Amino acid sequence: MKREDNIYFGAGPAALPTDVLATAAQALQNYDNTGLGLAEHSHRSSIATNIMNSLKADLSNFLDIPSSYEILVMQGGGSAQFDATVYNLVWSSKASQEAIRLLGPEHVNIAADAKKANDGKFGKIPDESTWKLSKKAAMTVDGVEWPSFPISLEPKGSDDDPIVVGDFSSTILSRRIPIEKFSIIFFGAQKNLGSTGITVVIVKKSLLPPVTAASSPATLRKLGLPIAPTTLDYSVIAKNDSLYNTLSIFDVYIADEVLKKSLESFPDKVDGQQAVAEKKAKLLYETLDAYPEVYKVVPDKSVRSRMNACFRVTKGGNVDDAEKAFLAGAVAKGLTGLKGHRSVGGIRASNYNAIPESGVQKLAAYLKEFATA
Ligand code: PLP
Repeated sequence: MKREDNIYFGAGPAALPTDVLATAAQALQNYDNTGLGLAEHSHRSSIATNIMNSLKADLSNFLDIPSSYEILVMQGGGSAQFDATVYNLVWSSKASQEAIRLLGPEHVNIAADAKKANDGKFGKIPDESTWKLSKKAAMTVDGVEWPSFPISLEPKGSDDDPIVVGDFSSTILSRRIPIEKFSIIFFGAQKNLGSTGITVVIVKKSLLPPVTAASSPATLRKLGLPIAPTTLDYSVIAKNDSLYNTLSIFDVYIADEVLKKSLESFPDKVDGQQAVAEKKAKLLYETLDAYPEVYKVVPDKSVRSRMNACFRVTKGGNVDDAEKAFLAGAVAKGLTGLKGHRSVGGIRASNYNAIPESGVQKLAAYLKEFATA
């Protein structure tokens, strides 16, 4: 299949903008006429420092990140951050399992379990009145998309304000985030920012203590508390401008090229990108909702993700057969990557920023054609 004939709806790694890939392919072979490709240049070179600084400046600009926050570029994906946040602070299903593994169940309070509240399936956010918040609660998101910041976690400017961790792996760069309400925001680059291999952490500078006697490994060991591996220690990464050890500068470059293109396309920055994301999601959900006998959207209407439309195909009554036929017909039209997550099945159309409106229009036309055939 030719690249231009393929609209890829995979959940991540996601498709990258074709023009960014063309620039990156050149940079991979010979960056800026240096006779060496970017994957070969040292992470200690001024080239690497300039690319890192440019990424941080462009991300800050696009998302309006306050100067009281530090941007870290790390490795290990969102999964490593499930551990890093536990080590660097203390706190969704997989992350809480990591917390239990690292700290013991007595130190982990699950304020709300979206699965338990919805008969074992993700699809709803439990009502805030049912949450059991501990005094210094920490949280993240799981599966569905929060339409807005939860009222119970609003900071009040007191010492008891909750520590709030946001996992924005799926939605970063697609909506405005009230950054000051979060202690830490993290996301892997491979969905909306760039290629697989780098993870961005936006952390409140006040949470980056210098290593003192009170937080030294010796003290932590004496108290029986876990000691962060150096490569997951936010203070170490911050002090070394995210270049503590060898980082893929090529991936940092791709992410920055995506940001430069976004800044060029949207003078009102993330708000402009958000308007497009909402338009694409609206078309998808309106088309799915128009055929209730054929498609069943999984999450509740109030928390439907704009980035990941999960639905079942029920045409004819046999869901397995209907979904197989749906997927085969889609592939024949160049609509690929639509198979749902291996653990839950169904269909998942990931509608990330690199998918043009015309790509979603093509999927909507197929949804209509399949439903009415
Ligand atoms: N968090 C969310 C919301 C995700 O969607 C994913 C993966 O799809 C992850 C974390 C895990 O990310 P990684 O594969 O980068 O570890």
